[in-house]
Amino acid sequence: MENFPGFEAQEVLKRAANIYATTTVHSKFVPSATHRAHGAWIYDADGNQFLDFCSGVGVSNCGYGNRHIEGAMIRHIIRTGRLQYIHHDFHNPESVTLAEALSAELDRAVGRNNNYKIFLCNSGTEANEAGLKLALAARPERKKIMAAVNGFHGRTLGSLSLMTKTAHIRDYPRSFKVFNFPFPRLGDQENIKGFYRHLEYMEQHRWADEYNSCVLELVQGEGGIYQADPQALKDLQDFCQQHWVLLHIDEVQTGFGRTGKMFAIEHYPFLNPAIVTFAKSIANGYPVGAVAFARWLDWPEHGRHSNTFGGNALGAVAALATMDFIKNKNLAGRAAELGEILNGGLEYLAAKFKSRVANVRGLGLMRAIDFLDYGGQLSSKFRDEVVEEVYHHGLILMGAGEAAIRLMPPLVIKKEELTQGLVRLERAIGIVLRDEINL
Ligand code: PLP
Repeated sequence: MENFPGFEAQEVLKRAANIYATTTVHSKFVPSATHRAHGAWIYDADGNQFLDFCSGVGVSNCGYGNRHIEGAMIRHIIRTGRLQYIHHDFHNPESVTLAEALSAELDRAVGRNNNYKIFLCNSGTEANEAGLKLALAARPERKKIMAAVNGFHGRTLGSLSLMTKTAHIRDYPRSFKVFNFPFPRLGDQENIKGFYRHLEYMEQHRWADEYNSCVLELVQGEGGIYQADPQALKDLQDFCQQHWVLLHIDEVQTGFGRTGKMFAIEHYPFLNPAIVTFAKSIANGYPVGAVAFARWLDWPEHGRHSNTFGGNALGAVAALATMDFIKNKNLAGRAAELGEILNGGLEYLAAKFKSRVANVRGLGLMRAIDFLDYGGQLSSKFRDEVVEEVYHHGLILMGAGEAAIRLMPPLVIKKEELTQGLVRLERAIGIVLRDEINL
C-alpha cells in the first residue's frame, strides 16, 4: 500500500496522540483513521482499503453498512422522532420486545423454558457488573466469586476483579475475593488436570460453599481463542450445582453467530446457566449490553441497580434488527461453514511456515494461530510484527493471548474475501521472516 498511513490519517493520529488518554487506541497497531465501511471492508480517510478480519473485536458480525439494521434505525428515528433518549419516564415498546426476544432466544439455545429476565445496559463490562451485583445481592452471605484464569470480562473494577492478566489488573484493587481456576482448554491435558486439581483443592478445604457465582467464557477470546473442554465444563457445572454456586456465562464475544451457533452455549447442550451476559455484536456495533438471569435472582425492589441509557429505543431497534438478520440469513450456519475454510487456510499456513506458526484452533469464525520464535517458544514479538506488517497489505488483524492472532471477520464475508485475506496474511508472514534473515 503506497499511501499508508496517508496524509489525512497522519493528521488524525497526531491529534489523537495529543488529546487521547495514552491507553485508548495504540497507533502502532491502528495506524489509520476510518472514513467509511461496507461489508467486510473499511476505507480510510486517504482512500486505502482494508479487509477487516477482526470486526472491531467481534462487534460487527452482520458487516458494516448493513442496510437491514441501519435502515431499521433510520426508519425508527424518522417514524418516531425519537433519536433522543426517553426511557425512565416511559416504557419503550422496542426495548420490551428486545428483552422478550432475547429471553426466548436464550431459552431456545439452552433447550429449557427458563424464561430468563433481562437487564439492558450499554456494554459488556456493564452486563458483567450487573450479573455480579445480581448474584451478590441475592445471596449477600456469599461474597466470593470463582473465575477462570486468563478470562476477559471488561475494564470496570468488578469485571477486572475476576481477571488475572497483569497488564489489565495491575494498579487496581479487587472489589471482592476471587478464586481463579485454570480454564480447561480443549485438548490440553496438563491444563485440564490443573483445573481438576483446583476444584479438588476447594473441596478439600471446604471452601466451595463460600462462593456465590462462577464466571467464565466458553471460548476465551482475549485470552487467545481457547475453547472449553466439554467434560470439564460439565463437571464444573455439577460442582457448582452441588455447592449452589451460580454459573455465569460471558457470551459477550462468542454470542450472535460468531462460533457457528447463535450462542456458544449451544455447543454444550448440558449447560443451564443462571446468568448470561451479552454485548458487542448484539446490535452490530451500536452500544448495547444485556444480562439474562434466572427469575428468582431478580432484585427485590426498584432502584437497587440501574443506568441512564440502558434500554434506549434506538439500541433496541438495532439489536432486534441484528437478531432478525442473523436468523434470516442463517449467519451462524454461515460462520460454521466459512470457519472450516478459514481453518483449512490456517492449517496451510502452519504447514508452510512450520516451526514458526502453529496451533490452529477455534470454532466458527472465531479462530487463532500462534507465532513462535526459532526455539519453538511462543513469540509475541513475531506476532506483533506480523500484525503491523499485515496492515500494509490491507488486512486488519488483532493479537490475542500470549502470541496468537485472532481471526474474526464479519460473518457476511464472502468466500473470495476470506481467501484474499489469507493470501495477504501469508504474504505478510513471508515478508517478516525474510526481513529477519536480512537483518
Ligand atoms: N467479556 C468479554 C468476553 C469480552 O471479550 C469483552 C470485551 O472484549 C468484555 C466482556 C467487555 O466488553 P466491553 O468492552 O463492551 O465492556
